[in-house]
Amino acid sequence: MDFLDAITAWGAACPDRVAHASSGAQLTYGELIGRAATLARWIDVALPDDRRPIGIVGHREPQLLVAMLACALTNHPYVPIDDGLPAERVARIAASAKLAQLLTVGDVDRYGATTSALPPRRARSADDLFYVMFTSGSTGDPKGVQITRGCLAAFVGWMTGEHTLQPADETFLNQANFSFDLSVMDVYLNLVSGGTLVSATREHAANPRLLFELLRTTPFTTWVSTPTFASMCLVERSFDATMLPTLRRFLFCGEILPHAVASALVDRFPAAEVWNTYGPTEATVATTSIRVTRGVLARHDPLPVGVAMPGTEIRVVDADGTPVAEGERGEIVIRGPNVSCGYLGRDDLTSAGFQLDGAQRAYHTGDWGRYREGLLFCEGRMDSQIKLHGYRIELGEIEVQLRRCQGVRDAVVLVNERNGAAHSLTAVVVATDSATDGTTDRTTDGATTGTSGTDASARARTGAMELRGELARHLPAYMVPRKVRFVAQFPMTANGKVDRRALADELARGT
Ligand code: AMP
Repeated sequence: MDFLDAITAWGAACPDRVAHASSGAQLTYGELIGRAATLARWIDVALPDDRRPIGIVGHREPQLLVAMLACALTNHPYVPIDDGLPAERVARIAASAKLAQLLTVGDVDRYGATTSALPPRRARSADDLFYVMFTSGSTGDPKGVQITRGCLAAFVGWMTGEHTLQPADETFLNQANFSFDLSVMDVYLNLVSGGTLVSATREHAANPRLLFELLRTTPFTTWVSTPTFASMCLVERSFDATMLPTLRRFLFCGEILPHAVASALVDRFPAAEVWNTYGPTEATVATTSIRVTRGVLARHDPLPVGVAMPGTEIRVVDADGTPVAEGERGEIVIRGPNVSCGYLGRDDLTSAGFQLDGAQRAYHTGDWGRYREGLLFCEGRMDSQIKLHGYRIELGEIEVQLRRCQGVRDAVVLVNERNGAAHSLTAVVVATDSATDGTTDRTTDGATTGTSGTDASARARTGAMELRGELARHLPAYMVPRKVRFVAQFPMTANGKVDRRALADELARGT
């Protein structure tokens, strides 16, 4: 059965079962399917013969699921947009996606308030665009990854085959914003299995007391999060099987699953399975998986990301695209039905990262990888894309924005690490007046930690605050560097590039 038919069937089979609960609001399957049907009718009238994407704006409200389903019913791709983003970024996404419409939570309440019968089934093709997910782009603009109905069907089919989800008896944790593709894992596995999705919202993320209360009082069976989130939960001693007695599985994706985190979870939740999955947004959430058992933990540190989903091939290739031998390092290339058809409106970026001409689409991930004992290991990035607390960030995008700020001649963003993982960002800035103004050749802590009482450092501190404020008007909060340091010039490598390592060393030495 088509996954969309599987979802809508729950409207008749279990109309009273809660499909999604978030911050006190909830929606049953009867309401979800019926309201999506009403909203779909409104979309058909408002946008006849228009297949352009529809933006869906909010923060994990159940209405967003109504809007996603209405888009699917009318064959409009949707673009999830978190309402915490700066207005300027939303405007850039809307322009680059050429959105036909922005639907807010209020719009869904207005145009999809009541329930009605499903509209007649449309002809659907695997190549129809299903959603467009925007991620950080190194050129300074977020880029829209186009995911087709076929991509999502391949992903959902694989995951439901790999995990024995109990029909109408699963409760999923939703930790990721709907504008991150990790959420696709919990949203759609939940909907196809007739489960209940329970969101941990930004209030839960900011308040551990609320978060642990949610975990204690909800009968979660399937945990979907970044490893960072689980690692944060592990700090709480009572985070174990007594807190979550019904938990059947942890599903992780999006960043390295540290050995210590997986090991602690296996110890504290002996009845639950721990899964590591790997993949970029460009290949629909995840492409490989492995169950992390005690045996895997004993044999591998760091942990492998497993094997490719059936029907998809993963090669590790050298700079010429030739597969390397087992045990050797190369770039991970994914080929299969789950690979995106490219970036929306960016043929230049698409042709650089994708091969779309063969029988199946292929994507060059930019990840270093290696096969050992038949298992794939992901060994970090070949470029300056990073993961910070689970968020995908192109350092180049922040640098482009910094260079657009008033008074900035050049800028570099450095990553500060703690225990081997990215912990925070520092923007290092050469001011336009640095040659004439002696104040800027002194490195100075930014807004949060400025110390000196001298004029120079006070001025640099104000400059840092202004820069962070200006960045916050264009970038999501997680991309705004915590510190800003001013230098007179950057050290250079022999071939004339900024020597980031020397710069980091200089800052660490305070020179
Ligand atoms: P995103 O598009 O936000 O899902 O980020 C994709 C990138 O996250 C990949 O290209 C990898 O660099 C990294 N990533 C995803 N899953 C894993 C994993 N299980 N282990 C290590 N890195 C991962």
